[in-house]
Amino acid sequence: MFEKILIANRGEIALRVQRACRAMNIKTVAVHSEADADAKYVKLADESVCIGPAPSGLSYLNIPAIISAAEVTDSQAIHPGYGFLSENADFAERVEKSGFVFIGPRPDSIRTMGDKVSAKKAMRQAGVPCVPGSEGALPESIEEIRKIVRDIGYPVIIKAAGGGGGRGMRVVHTDAALSNAVIMTRNEAQAAFGNPVVYAEKYLENPRHIEFQLLVDEHGNAVHLGERDCSMQRRHQKILEEAPAPGISLETRDKIGVRCAEACRRINYRGAGTFEFLYENNEFYFIEMNTRLQVEHPVTEAITGIDLVQMQIAIAAGEKLPFQQKDIEFNGHAIECRINAEDPYKLTPSAGRITQYHAPGGPGVRVDSHVYHNYMVPPYYDSMIGKIITFGDTREQAVARMRIALSEMVVDGIKTNIPLHLDLLSDSTFLSDGVTIHFLEHKLALHNKSS
Ligand code: ADP
Repeated sequence: MFEKILIANRGEIALRVQRACRAMNIKTVAVHSEADADAKYVKLADESVCIGPAPSGLSYLNIPAIISAAEVTDSQAIHPGYGFLSENADFAERVEKSGFVFIGPRPDSIRTMGDKVSAKKAMRQAGVPCVPGSEGALPESIEEIRKIVRDIGYPVIIKAAGGGGGRGMRVVHTDAALSNAVIMTRNEAQAAFGNPVVYAEKYLENPRHIEFQLLVDEHGNAVHLGERDCSMQRRHQKILEEAPAPGISLETRDKIGVRCAEACRRINYRGAGTFEFLYENNEFYFIEMNTRLQVEHPVTEAITGIDLVQMQIAIAAGEKLPFQQKDIEFNGHAIECRINAEDPYKLTPSAGRITQYHAPGGPGVRVDSHVYHNYMVPPYYDSMIGKIITFGDTREQAVARMRIALSEMVVDGIKTNIPLHLDLLSDSTFLSDGVTIHFLEHKLALHNKSS
């Protein structure tokens, strides 16, 4: 096992990875920007290295600075967390070429899955059901594109092959709007991801977002840890997730999960990974694979009792998975609310000092957050300041515990989305069933119209 791991990230996930390391008796190195010098997890790490100024391009995305930090601290492995460099194949390659272990998949898996066109191709070949769409990248000629799109049938969604974070997508309903949409998405994709390739998919009108968690070791063992429902999204970004997904039968879970595990073996995958699907009319359609730990991993940990970060580290160290598919048990229900420093309904970011902080607790409540009383939320990074995860025997109990937890929680001095979460947790549609990916956008629109 490793003796020392460098954590190339910040915020709650830096603390989460640190906790896994501590549980495994592994020393930790925190790297941080100048803006995060006073962060609690930086102080809690065994060692820390400042890797640059506040803007992430100069610090958390600064590959040479991170590699140097690993060298000077004699770290053996690097955990990238999520976001930042976690799905950057060039970074993974540089880490390995510099003699460190990258805690994640092989660089070529990251590369294949990072390109949504090649990812879909690999999944189609592996027998995973995909959203109907263009066979690959859209050609140059608008006439040819029009033909492809008519075959798929309107509405379609034009998506960037290199897209991520909910950006680089455009829905098209008519022939007349097609040409402009393709050009605009291509330009945006080039500017944002350095890759102008776009493809077309059938736009599913009312799907849910359901994803499967996979763990794969170097020895050909792959297991799925069931699914999560992440349909509660605004601007294609998740804010509340749960496991299991309401209304999905055990047979369906196993059928899709086993197919994902089989696909992982076929593509020679390693580490933790997530298969994202849209789910409509009882059918699953693959949209993309995330080759990293997900923000919402704790809900899976809650219902399986498996520590996903410790598993990632063990796999990276070459260990065999300590269980097989038949050993995985699913118990109870878990919900996660992402707490963001933002206006709950207008969604505008709200950085600044937290003048009062009180975290909730009690049975079945987990708080993953790096913030504390008097913490300064920097304006440079993602607005998420933590996650509350509740667990119960039933969905009702998990929801009830979440309501109590959020009503106990105090975060003063900045705005947070806690009021929005409380609103969602008493919504009769959400309480009765799984919602679709448009539910929250509609709710926000209604709220903003009436206020
Ligand atoms: P990203 O990598 O940016 O997260 P995804 O491909 O995972 O992009 O899609 C993000 C979200 O966009 C989905 O969860 C869903 O809400 C919406 N979306 C993507 N593809 C489609 C589609 N074919 N039909 C309807 N909605 C879609």
